[in-house]
Amino acid sequence: MFATRFAPSPTGYLHRGHAFSALTAYSAALAAGGRFVLRIEDIDATRCRPQFEAAIYEDLAWLGLSRETPVRRQSEHRADYQAALDRLKAEGLLYRCFRTRREVAEAIASAPHGAMEVFRGAPLAPDEEAQRLAAGEPYAWRLSLAAAERRLGGFEGLFFVEEGEGIVPARPQLGGDVVLARKDVGVAYHLAVVVDDALQGMTHVIRGQDLFEATHVQRLLQALLGLPAPVYRHHRLLTGPDGKRFAKRDRAETLRSLREQGMSASDLRKELGFG
Ligand code: GLU
Repeated sequence: MFATRFAPSPTGYLHRGHAFSALTAYSAALAAGGRFVLRIEDIDATRCRPQFEAAIYEDLAWLGLSRETPVRRQSEHRADYQAALDRLKAEGLLYRCFRTRREVAEAIASAPHGAMEVFRGAPLAPDEEAQRLAAGEPYAWRLSLAAAERRLGGFEGLFFVEEGEGIVPARPQLGGDVVLARKDVGVAYHLAVVVDDALQGMTHVIRGQDLFEATHVQRLLQALLGLPAPVYRHHRLLTGPDGKRFAKRDRAETLRSLREQGMSASDLRKELGFG
C-alpha cells in the first residue's frame, strides 16, 4: 500500500516551505488512497524543543492534515538505530572518527586539489585508537565508503527511482564517509531515516530538493542493511520574495505567525497550489 511521510525536526516553528512539503506528501497519499505518516525527527536533544513539537501538531491540524497515530518519535527508538549500527559495525563498514569538525574541514581543504570535496577517512592504527579510547576521547562512527564499495562490488549497480524521471544512478560518493553515529547523540540523521522509512513501510519518500544528495547516501545504506528502496520524489523548494529559501530563522514566515496575522489555512493551501 502506498505510504509516505512528513518528517520534520522540532528545532523551530514550521514555515511555508514545510507546509508545501507536508501538503505535497499528503495529497500524494490521498490521491493514491494510501497512508500519510508524520515522524518527529528528534534525535538531537540539544536542538529539539517540546514547544516546537507541540507546534508541529498544531500547525498540521490547522492545515487540515490528518495522520496516523501513534506518531513515531525518533528519540524513543534508539534501540532500532543501535541494532542497525551494530550490524554495519560487525561487517566492518564503520570506523571510529575522533576528529573535530574543524579537523574534518582542514583535512578536506588540505587534500590535493579536487581530490576530496567531502570527507573520506580511514580507521586509526589499532594502537593509536586504543590510546585515544583509553584517554576517553569522544568519537563518531563513520561509514567507510571504501569498505561499502568493496562489499557491494562497486556502486555501479546502485540506483533509485525518482518519480517522473525514472532510474537515477546513486552516487553515495557525494556524501563522503558520512557520520552514522554522532559523538554527542550516538546516532545520526541518515541512519535513523533509512531505518524508520523501512520500519514504517514507506513506499514513497516525498521531500524537498535540498535532500537530493541525502537520497544517494540513504540508498547506499538501504543496500548495506538489506532494506527495501522506496520511490523518491524531490519537490521544488519554495522561495520568498527575496528569492531565498524559507528557513526556520525567518520568524515572520512561520505558520503560526501567518495564522496570527489572520491568514486562513485555505488561503495558504490555495497560495501553495493545493486549493
Ligand atoms: N528531518 C529532516 C528535516 O527536517 C527531513 C528528513 C527527511 O525528509 O528525510 O529536514
